[in-house]
Amino acid sequence: MRVAVLRERRAAETRVAATPETVKKLIGLGNTVAVETGAGMASGIPDSAYAEAGAEIAADPGAALAGAGIVLAVRAPEAAELAKIPRGALLIGTLQADAAAAKAYAEAGIDACAMELLPRITRAQSMDVLSSQANLAGYRAVIEAAETFDRGFPMLMTAAGTIPAANVFIMGAGVAGLQAIATARRLGGRVSATDVRPAAKEEIKSLGASFVGYEDEESKAAQTAGGYAKQLSAEFYAKQAEVVAGHIAKQDIVVTTALVQGRKAPTLVTEAMVHSMKPGSVIVDIASDAGGNVALTKPGEAVTTANGVKILGWSNWPGRIAGASSALYARNLLTFLTTFWDKEGKKPALKEDDEIVKGVALTRAGAVVHPSLASA
Ligand code: NAD
Repeated sequence: MRVAVLRERRAAETRVAATPETVKKLIGLGNTVAVETGAGMASGIPDSAYAEAGAEIAADPGAALAGAGIVLAVRAPEAAELAKIPRGALLIGTLQADAAAAKAYAEAGIDACAMELLPRITRAQSMDVLSSQANLAGYRAVIEAAETFDRGFPMLMTAAGTIPAANVFIMGAGVAGLQAIATARRLGGRVSATDVRPAAKEEIKSLGASFVGYEDEESKAAQTAGGYAKQLSAEFYAKQAEVVAGHIAKQDIVVTTALVQGRKAPTLVTEAMVHSMKPGSVIVDIASDAGGNVALTKPGEAVTTANGVKILGWSNWPGRIAGASSALYARNLLTFLTTFWDKEGKKPALKEDDEIVKGVALTRAGAVVHPSLASA
């Protein structure tokens, strides 16, 4: 079967869905692989590395997609690319499809799998693109905060005097937040963190950070069966804001990562909180693509407020460390394919009744099959 890997064309997308390592393994499964020229450049992978791994380098999307049975992508293909995907092909990516997009895949006869919908179960961990990418986003956010901050993270004792350690506050302690805590601790910051899910409190402490937050009866049930945070009441958010406001005023660095599935990210840092911080403080908003956790975030931009606080609201945080994020993303897709692979037939065999497949499959044989989109 022919596997096509396209150059990503969406704004701020620097990642690629296959690496020379995964290309070799795809070929080992009995496939041929076509990689569009330049696909890996923003991740530090030249065409020659793919060619050495055995891939054909295709001049454009049409050449890569001609005859393809599998298409690997980071983001949803644009309309012009979609039109060139052969009927019957399997498309795997973080497709973020709404009902209209799913209908378009069905009409094009493409079996589309949206990897961001993968159930967060133990068996799926090695294919979990949200986790692999969030982990790196959390790391990168702290590194960029340290680079932007005009002092150091660790306490620096010198003959000329002592520079105190930076106070670092991580808001949202899921995958990205926990990695942000660990990274900030490694750099020597004095780290605290908050979350609404009760389980997060122990995880924060186990990484050596202090917990700052508001807890009540409502927050005891703040976690969905899938492990995500629930949307909570306006009263809860007001109480949470009261508790964190005084803390934020004393922080040098704030990293926000809070998401609520299917909704705009909650605003955790108000304009007044930003204005309470010292000049030179840095806020990194990893949730910027979901609307941001900070009232003054400008998605896709870095801004400095009138009181000298720098807010980094860049899009696509994993894409800012593209070499690593592409390597992990590509392995996630490879694991998904090898898990559902017919070795004899040398083709994908997505078991319709498997919990993982049910989670990610948007379309099959011309029909929209995902429960969240099928009736739309
Ligand atoms: P996420 O990206 O959806 O959200 C990030 C964090 O923001 C979460 O911890 C959430 O609780 C928090 N948050 C939401 N609203 C908040 C608020 N108002 N204030 C403070 N924090 C707020 O979460 P995620 O990183 O994808 O992790 C979600 C869950 O999935 C976690 O329980 C994680 O342990 C679990 N998980 C399980 C597996 C697995 O077992 N395979 C893999 C990955 C993640």
